[in-house]
Amino acid sequence: MRGIPLFRIAGIRIEAHWSALVTAVLLTFLLGGAVIPQLAPDVDHVQRWLIAPVGAIGFLATLLAHELAHSVTARRSGVHIDRITLWLLGGVSEMHDEPDDPRTDLRIALAGPATSIAIGVGLFAALAVLRSNVSLGLTGAVVGWLAGTNIVLAVFNLLPAMPLDGGRVLRDIVWMRTGDQLRAASIAARGGRYLGAALIGLGIAEVVVLASAAGIWLVLLGLFLRSAATADLAAATARHQLGSTTVAEIMTAHPFTVLAGTSVEDFLRSGLPTWHRVFPVIDANGHPIAVVSLLELARAPRLRRDARVESVARELPAAAKVTADTPLTNLLSSVLLRPGLDLVAVVDDAHRLIGVVTATDLVTASARSALGIPVAHAS
Ligand SMILES: [Zn+2]
Repeated sequence: MRGIPLFRIAGIRIEAHWSALVTAVLLTFLLGGAVIPQLAPDVDHVQRWLIAPVGAIGFLATLLAHELAHSVTARRSGVHIDRITLWLLGGVSEMHDEPDDPRTDLRIALAGPATSIAIGVGLFAALAVLRSNVSLGLTGAVVGWLAGTNIVLAVFNLLPAMPLDGGRVLRDIVWMRTGDQLRAASIAARGGRYLGAALIGLGIAEVVVLASAAGIWLVLLGLFLRSAATADLAAATARHQLGSTTVAEIMTAHPFTVLAGTSVEDFLRSGLPTWHRVFPVIDANGHPIAVVSLLELARAPRLRRDARVESVARELPAAAKVTADTPLTNLLSSVLLRPGLDLVAVVDDAHRLIGVVTATDLVTASARSALGIPVAHAS
């Protein structure tokens, strides 16, 4: 999911997907139309609709604080975090790799809900202190709603269902007790599918019985939980099957490369090997900097043959540069490789390119391990 970059906090990129705007608008209507009239009935129309968007943005800020708590804890444990994206159903922290011990993962999972509870309790406490001195009216209503919503959010997030934080907590505890990461992931994923089904059922009942459109929200959330739980289990299964296979075992060493500055014309006439569709672009020091794909070149609307190849190449993201001893499972969880478009550059200690891994290599490795035959090339 790609969003619009907003700002950076503690070195972490914060982005907003367009659907976060839908959430902000819906929350504004919820606050202005229902919450404020109920909690502060004597507030007039204009004031109510002026503060409602402020409350909605305040809520998004507390969601961000929840996600930041996960990210900062992960960073402290050595897990690289690329960015946080706010979207329709909350926030997502994009992790490069998964912690390989359950205790670390448990700390990361608990940091988010703990922050939401701290925000909720803190706001309620501040309200209680201030209320004894002044009448808070409208502000009190919005802050009270923010506090309550954060506590509800934390409790919901702690339900033992993947991909919720509670699902990770359940997985980590089973993992710690049994040492069986795959079984733990499968139990947590089952929780996610059950909760998803329950939410879909409740949502439909709300729409049909209560004739309330708000049920659609629950149906969406349920569908999301079910598909995310299934995806998480698939990733855990692949991790289990690939075991300790490293990038070195499946990479293509000494790949065909393009030197930055080469023209598209020269690149196309340089005797490209027929079985390759994506090529790394390297600089004069041998450092990989970009990826050029034949598919993309063929689809480029106004391809200039005298243009430099890097002007039509895509920049190589940091997650797509790895060392040869990286476990393949890390690649599966951190890099989305589209066939014919992307590759992972394998680099040595001096960041020079020594090999590449393509989407086909990864899919083949997963299939071979699922079939119980050696993952690595027999060469
Ligand atoms: Zn969380």
